Amino acid sequence: MTEPLKLGATIGILGGGQLGRMLSLAASRLGFKTHIYCPDRDSPAFEVTPHKTVAAYDDRSALQKFAALVDAITYEFENVPAGTAETLAPLKPLRPGANALAISQDRLAEKSFIANLGIPVAPHRAIHTANDLAPALGELGGRGILKTTRLGYDGKGQRRVSSLAEAEAAFAELKPYPLVLEALVPFTVEISVVIARGIDGKSAAFDPAENVHSDGILATSTVPAGVSAQTADLARAHAAAIAAALNYVGVLGVEFFALADGSVIVNEIAPRVHNSGHWTEAVCVTDQFEQHIRAVAGWPLGDPSRLADVVMENLIGDRITAIPADLGPGIRPQAYGKAESRPGRKMGHLNRVAVKTPRK
Ligand code: AMP
Repeated sequence: MTEPLKLGATIGILGGGQLGRMLSLAASRLGFKTHIYCPDRDSPAFEVTPHKTVAAYDDRSALQKFAALVDAITYEFENVPAGTAETLAPLKPLRPGANALAISQDRLAEKSFIANLGIPVAPHRAIHTANDLAPALGELGGRGILKTTRLGYDGKGQRRVSSLAEAEAAFAELKPYPLVLEALVPFTVEISVVIARGIDGKSAAFDPAENVHSDGILATSTVPAGVSAQTADLARAHAAAIAAALNYVGVLGVEFFALADGSVIVNEIAPRVHNSGHWTEAVCVTDQFEQHIRAVAGWPLGDPSRLADVVMENLIGDRITAIPADLGPGIRPQAYGKAESRPGRKMGHLNRVAVKTPRK
């Protein structure tokens, strides 16, 4: 189906977290209905969607019923099981496609895919058994980061190692195998590009954001990023090449390490709206959530132009009390409606909007 969805059509979303919630709000603003599918009864997205299914991702009959009730299907997290995508894809348009899920679910597959496009990734080695550690460490300079290839997020599933003993201890803890050992990249800053690609193959990238992490979790995204215009353009071009190679439809997040010489290395990609793109809702003509819904609907993409400078701060755990305590001038808050605040849990975010400075 390549016809654009009509006003009033229903978009199915797998996953009911804050990203699903913000997608649902954007869809509703464009005149669509959403149907959120999530096994967790307390999902933050359920509060804002007219239709929902509470069922497991491997419940074939629930998935088939869901597919019958929607006009197109998307997802808000990259760990949608392959079997779920296989069940749904023949029934209704699945955007982005199952290939984007397969590649982004596996760090090794992701790195080879990106490297095959001629885009730099961190030097790395696959670690199938503990015997692979010593040669890999030797080749990567004696230290690195040992990561799971699957199901890692927010810095989970990875350990910094600087000796064989540390690597062996980390190998024993991290599962499942294979793991990947990455060289430590001497980056100056981390940046990300959030890009949208439509069914017509046209793409629209937002300005790169400069990201600071704390305990492996995104703390702030600042735009403009502290990189040159050349580096920003290079990152955008890489993101566009990755989206095109995936024949991608929707919003894609691409995280980069920026190096002192102006070059960039791709860290990882996420086939969904991205935390480092939350700033767009405060200062862009079209934000990432609307952009994703437009792409999924087969509509023309919107204008990603940025109208002001901005810093997005994630409100983690008890920091959610910033809403309403810290709502000064220029601040646009977003709370995710999660009942319980826990350390490390993303509860909301603030966008601090400032007057735009000339592009570096
Ligand atoms: P990831 O889960 O791969 O995004 O890693 C979480 C964070 O760990 C990144 O945002 C970086 O700050 C850091 N990190 C991950 N991989 C590397 C690497 N190869 N070199 C240096 N820092 C890294």
